[in-house]
Amino acid sequence: MAVAGKARRDSVPGGQLGNASEKIPSREAVALSRGLQLGYSPLHFNPACRSVTMTYVVTENCIKCKFTDCVDVCPVDCFHEGPNFLVIDPEECIDCTLCVPECPAEAIYAEDDVPDAQRRFIALNAELAQTWPVIVERKEPLDDADEWNNKPDKLQYLKR
Ligand code: SF4
Ligand code: SF4
Repeated sequence: MAVAGKARRDSVPGGQLGNASEKIPSREAVALSRGLQLGYSPLHFNPACRSVTMTYVVTENCIKCKFTDCVDVCPVDCFHEGPNFLVIDPEECIDCTLCVPECPAEAIYAEDDVPDAQRRFIALNAELAQTWPVIVERKEPLDDADEWNNKPDKLQYLKR
């Protein structure tokens, strides 16, 4: 989903967000602001209603698809782009979950929910986020993205 006017986490004063954000740190306040724009309940972003913060992880089905729908909704710009894959920087992800339903390839999981066969992608996201550039806006997917969606064993095609 393309959303105009994406906020940077360091550019949204918590005081503009009303009572719901008064006790929420700035990064979560940004997520709250973006989430409300997208129609989520404020409770979705209340740390008191959620467990320990974790990261989200891009997994194998993104390879050779890279639709980039996820990028537009991330409130803290934590996606990094490689030639045919995206990764999430675990140091930046605030566990807001907004990207998960946006991914046409259903490639994004909470760290704890990554399938056993794809656990290697947790370290891979952390590693590649160190060197790949940040991507902040959606772009056209790869030409044959639909053809590659849901094909198995795509890790062999990952380009670094
Ligand atoms: S929407 Fe899904 S498939 Fe597309 S770039 Fe994001 S993680 Fe990859
Ligand atoms: S859960 Fe997704 S949208 Fe939210 S901060 Fe992490 S990567 Fe960005």
